[in-house]
Amino acid sequence: MKVIKIGGGCLKDGPAARKIIELIAKRGEGNVFVLSAFYGVTDILIAGIEKALENEDTAPIIITHLKTLHNTIIKSLIDDINKRKQLSKDLSMIFQKLERYYYGISFTREATPRMRDMIATFGERISAAVLSKALSSMGKKSCCLLPEDAGIISDGKFMDASAIMNKTSKNLMSALDSIMTPQTIVFIPGFYGVSESGDITTFGRGGSDYSAAVVAASIKADVLEIWKYTQGFMTADPDNIPHCKLIPELTYEEAAELSYTGAGILHPRTVEPVKKAGIGIAIKNTYNPDAPGSLITKNARTAEKIIKSVSYTKDISVLKIHASGVGARSGILSQITENLSSSGINIKSVVTSQTCISLLLSRSDIEKGHQSIKKIRPIPFTKTSIVTDVALVSIVGEGLQNNRGIAAKCFTAVFDANVNIEMISFGTSTAALYFLVHEEKLDTTIHALHDIFFN
Ligand code: ASP
Ligand code: MG
Repeated sequence: MKVIKIGGGCLKDGPAARKIIELIAKRGEGNVFVLSAFYGVTDILIAGIEKALENEDTAPIIITHLKTLHNTIIKSLIDDINKRKQLSKDLSMIFQKLERYYYGISFTREATPRMRDMIATFGERISAAVLSKALSSMGKKSCCLLPEDAGIISDGKFMDASAIMNKTSKNLMSALDSIMTPQTIVFIPGFYGVSESGDITTFGRGGSDYSAAVVAASIKADVLEIWKYTQGFMTADPDNIPHCKLIPELTYEEAAELSYTGAGILHPRTVEPVKKAGIGIAIKNTYNPDAPGSLITKNARTAEKIIKSVSYTKDISVLKIHASGVGARSGILSQITENLSSSGINIKSVVTSQTCISLLLSRSDIEKGHQSIKKIRPIPFTKTSIVTDVALVSIVGEGLQNNRGIAAKCFTAVFDANVNIEMISFGTSTAALYFLVHEEKLDTTIHALHDIFFN
């Protein structure tokens, strides 16, 4: 049995979704599909929470907007008008419930984490109901299995939950056992699970990749396929390097590193559950489904020059905390990290020297993070500053640590391109080397590195 994840990017509009259901009808029998919401729906749901907090009149407006968006897609998916009406009836119950949640927020002027997570899952609830109905209207045997009914058990952490694998596995095995036949197509909404006390909890934004990995590992699937509108992992971002190439094979570590800086092919946590279970991940292109795509396995072959990809992210900034002997003073780092974590700020990485702690944060967090640590009393530092005009570059390839000369080759290429390296992080991963450059030098850096490792 395969587990196949379909992302919101493949469900952009009616024609795109139509293409997908035809592909599912052709290749999906006897397999489990984990779905994202239709494109943009989760954003609308979450933005709706803020609107509802401000004004109770907005609840019906949000619902109408969502209904219109979905109805347009449904028209492309289901030709039979009676079947469409039937689906509308099923969905109206879901929309009614959602509307009540928004009113609840308006009246109480409060959106608890529990409520936020519950609302955020409606995109997936709807897409799974729609695709399942569309397949059955084509004469296929399909059904929709909700995570709360299937028993995808989470640790209960709102907005950032993890699955409890042994319990989930036991539940899912028996749930599927009772519905699966060689013809059945099962749809499971991604993005969330249910805690042991019954709370709906999401796995964080973009978390339906992780959901699919949890399902694949739980039922010991033959493979986890991620259906995308792109070819797979590439040696660089095609926007920078149009002649970059597909990476046919990657190890779990390489894929995990590339999901932090790469083109958003996979949610960073996807690898976790499948790696433990030894299940491979195949990235498949929906426009060319017979192409092999990128395959992620334990035994993926090493690239000729070790490095498989040059990637980057601009969503990075540095919060610098200066004080003498910070590297030797216990407690200061934990004080700072605790302060940031209680402000809801994620630290992407930390680099310390004896006089400065540098925290790498998302650009959207940097101002808030800076203000937050300034409030620590007694003040444990002499000075703080932020840097925002940087980009994080990485070269990724399993074995770069043990193969002499890779780092030298990388930094020589960057030096020869006349680019100054702002900060280096090497040795924390066996499969990646990271460094910061000025944002305006990013393109030059990427070209220099791609030339040296791939031409
Ligand atoms: N729909 C959710 C989001 O947009 C989960 C996902 O698509 O992976 O974050
Ligand atoms: Mg995604």
